[in-house]
Amino acid sequence: MPKPRIIAIDGPASAGKSTLGARLAQVLGYLYVDTGVMYRAVTWEALCQDIPIEDEAAITALAAELSIDITRPQVEDGRQYTVYVDGRDVTWDLRRPEVDQQVSPVSAYSGVRRVLTAQQRAIGLRGEVVMVGRDIGTVVLPEAALKIYLDASPEERARRRLRDKQALGCAIDYETVLLAIRRRDRYDAGRTVAPLRQAEDAIYMDNDHMTIEEELQFILELLQADEAVENDRTWPENGESR
Ligand code: C5P
Repeated sequence: MPKPRIIAIDGPASAGKSTLGARLAQVLGYLYVDTGVMYRAVTWEALCQDIPIEDEAAITALAAELSIDITRPQVEDGRQYTVYVDGRDVTWDLRRPEVDQQVSPVSAYSGVRRVLTAQQRAIGLRGEVVMVGRDIGTVVLPEAALKIYLDASPEERARRRLRDKQALGCAIDYETVLLAIRRRDRYDAGRTVAPLRQAEDAIYMDNDHMTIEEELQFILELLQADEAVENDRTWPENGESR
């Protein structure tokens, strides 16, 4: 099976990008990078340092000076990775409701995006990577050999998010989660810099009625089919005619 050097997975909040990205990276033996974590890290740090989220200049300066490090899980507590900000483990802090609420405006700042996009690109260009986000196939790594746009209905995404939030012990109801999902969708798709959209050469996947194993199978079959395309291209060179 041919293994593309770079795989980009984009899509809206709670479409299951992290679950799919992590599994695919595991199967291929690739590095898994969830870029949302980097926007969350800047947001969390701004909240900790009492920097107003509206202060674009201060937030941009913060993004430039922070050292964000994403490694394999350092603790066995269900995490997919460990995130250090300036050496502190903030992995679970990044999932707090206040980060959920404030991360969209932070990620709409062009200076913040410039800094984080450069860091993501440097990681991605080393290859053997599955990178997950909103703008990976369109802006961060447009040269990715395989691009997936993963989607699901807002209602299904709200149900999944509600399960995650309840598992974290949050008291929150379905309607509130659905509203928040719709608000983030509007924000991510409506911002001027690197809005959420499907790359022209991305493959669209709606996973409303798919299990993670079916999604994985779908992608592995795509990779197999790619091999068939490669064979097809070399066919006339073997002296055969169609
Ligand atoms: O994927 P996750 O929900 O953790 O991402 C948090 C936020 O970061 C998103 O709502 C989006 O606003 C932003 N983001 C982004 N570009 C990326 C990844 C995430 O703007 N590549």
